[in-house]
Amino acid sequence: MNDTRLEQHNRRILLIDDNEAIHHDIRKILVPRNDRSKFESLSSEVFGESSTAGVLIQYDIDSAYQGQEGLAMVEQSVADGQPYAMAFVDIRMPPGWDGIETIERIWQVDPSIQVVICSAHCDYSWEQMIDRLGQTDQLLILKKPFDHIEVGQLACALTKKWNLAHQATYKLDELERMVQKQTEELREANEQLQQSNGSLHQEISERRRAEDQLRYNSLHDTLTDLPNRAMLMERLDRCIERTARNDDYLFGVLFMDVDNFKIVNDSLGHRVGDQLLRAISKRLVRCLRGLDTASRPGNDTTARLGGDEFVVLLDGMRDPANAAMVAQRISQTLSKPFSIDGKEIVTGVSVGIATSDNQYTDAVDMLRDADTALYQAKEKGRGRYEMFNREMHEKVMARLEIEADLRKIIERDQLHLQYQPIVRVSDGVIEGFEALVRWIHPTRGLISPLDFIPVAEETGTIVEIGEWVLREACRQAHEWRTTVPGFEDLSMSVNVSSRQLVCNDFLAQVESAITDTGLDPHGLKLEVTESVMIEDERTTVVLQQIRDRGIAIRMDDFGTGYSSLSYLHNLPIDAIKLDRAFIRDMSLDGHHAATVQAVMVLAKNRGFTVIAEGVETAEHLATLQVLDCDLAQGFFFSKPVNAEVASTMMMSGAHWQKVA
Ligand code: C2E
Ligand code: CA
Ligand code: CA
Repeated sequence: MNDTRLEQHNRRILLIDDNEAIHHDIRKILVPRNDRSKFESLSSEVFGESSTAGVLIQYDIDSAYQGQEGLAMVEQSVADGQPYAMAFVDIRMPPGWDGIETIERIWQVDPSIQVVICSAHCDYSWEQMIDRLGQTDQLLILKKPFDHIEVGQLACALTKKWNLAHQATYKLDELERMVQKQTEELREANEQLQQSNGSLHQEISERRRAEDQLRYNSLHDTLTDLPNRAMLMERLDRCIERTARNDDYLFGVLFMDVDNFKIVNDSLGHRVGDQLLRAISKRLVRCLRGLDTASRPGNDTTARLGGDEFVVLLDGMRDPANAAMVAQRISQTLSKPFSIDGKEIVTGVSVGIATSDNQYTDAVDMLRDADTALYQAKEKGRGRYEMFNREMHEKVMARLEIEADLRKIIERDQLHLQYQPIVRVSDGVIEGFEALVRWIHPTRGLISPLDFIPVAEETGTIVEIGEWVLREACRQAHEWRTTVPGFEDLSMSVNVSSRQLVCNDFLAQVESAITDTGLDPHGLKLEVTESVMIEDERTTVVLQQIRDRGIAIRMDDFGTGYSSLSYLHNLPIDAIKLDRAFIRDMSLDGHHAATVQAVMVLAKNRGFTVIAEGVETAEHLATLQVLDCDLAQGFFFSKPVNAEVASTMMMSGAHWQKVA
């Protein structure tokens, strides 16, 4: 149904009557709408003088002369969407359908049409008509001849009624449409909401996934996918908390590093190194899984801290010894060869163990102790494990103390030099001294260089200490050379550590020590260990530059390391100092004496001076005299002494007679 047409109110009327005169009369009564003046006079007659409503009523009147024709027009009007509001139907229209039949058929097509039956005769009683057409309020009877006011009022009332009914339906329709529209809108909105809900869900789950990934990454090692330090610490904290609540609960930490990993990495490349670390981590995890966890009902963690460091957290043990057992099993498993990139690689691990019976309150402390034990294990050789104990702890504490104090050693003027005479084997006369450093600690007294030089080397303080030693030794040597008669050619040996040699301005340090103290460069000898020269080629260049300035280089502790005479001639050295182990063993059997003799012959052939260390007895000296050793040093002559004692020694003309 067309909305706009409805709004204008439908005034379409159909007349079905076989009598032309009736059409004429009704048209006259309802007035064709063009004839405005007539219409107005009539409407005031119909609706009363005061009424203006009637004035607006105009009808569209169509005529049919037969029931069939009328029905066809009704059908057409419905098809066009312009239905009739009412129809005047004559009751008798021979030879076709009579009025009742026509109405029946019309209502089948358009049940809403209002009908006025026009009848001159009482062909049917009202009851009969109701019988045929059913109880309806859409039917009225108009008796012929018409009263024209009655016709006008009927037309007006029925079309109004039709309009009202249709408006109601329309309103209902409209309401329904509105409801439908709103339902549709609601559905769309719902759909959109669901969609946006969906994308919101998606976004949330994506974000959650990203967050999960981030969290995972922050707790795992990217190379091996093992838990990382952060996760290990979290778990360690939890274990420590548990020990506070449960006295029987025991757990352990195994700190491991891969033996010779640096060599694999350097020689075979990082890619192989990475693959090895992955293979190790897999084997580690498998090994732990294979262990009897029934005795440790916890949840072990294998973590990688970085580099070649792995940590296993044994969550729940019966006995601290269990940790040692696991360590042993791990080191057995990891000592079997790995096949990587077609290469067979053999490594192993050293393990440091700390167990919770040491009453930890901090995860960091426990890890540190396991690391300390690892350090000890490595000191004893590769592929070992070591349990942390009190003694280790004390050692560590002492070391930490040394580290802290070392930094202030120079400014606090706590260094002191002792001098040990180096004697000519041929006539027992002092050739020179070796300067040996001491630390005069305000509370701990005299500290041996064996206890602090390694720490100073690790922390780098050795560069400062070494420079001080060098200057002080040069100053002392120059003083003695210029003040003690007969010692104008005295030499001073100064120990130089590798850290000093690789330090860029070492040459400058040596030069300024010489210049500032006025010492003749020939009076200075630098002692370096053989490992220094082998490990870093750069040092040989520096050493050569030093020799070029007239300063001799002595290879210290010869025979303790790689010691092979065959490469000696390539090195920028002037003398070798035979380690005291040679001298000690020399007297035990003929074999060692023969070795010393061989070394002596070869060294001399190469033009090196030979100095024997650790000469403690007259027999030592006697043998060295037989072997024609150049110089000797050791307790037999003198322990290291302070400058004053050394001066007296020289002044008094101390010397050691030929024994043999
Ligand atoms: P070193 O260079 O081998 O020094 C000789 C060490 O052997 C000295 O120990 C000395 O006291 C000891 N010694 C001398 N004769 C005998 C003997 O007959 N028997 C025995 N058993 N030992 C003897 P010291 O003074 O404790 O020095 C130890 C090490 O500390 C030195 O070994 C040296 O490597 C290092 N060192 C000492 N002073 C310095 C220094 O100024 N700089 C550097 N870098 N290292 C130093
Ligand atoms: Ca030395
Ligand atoms: Ca030595």
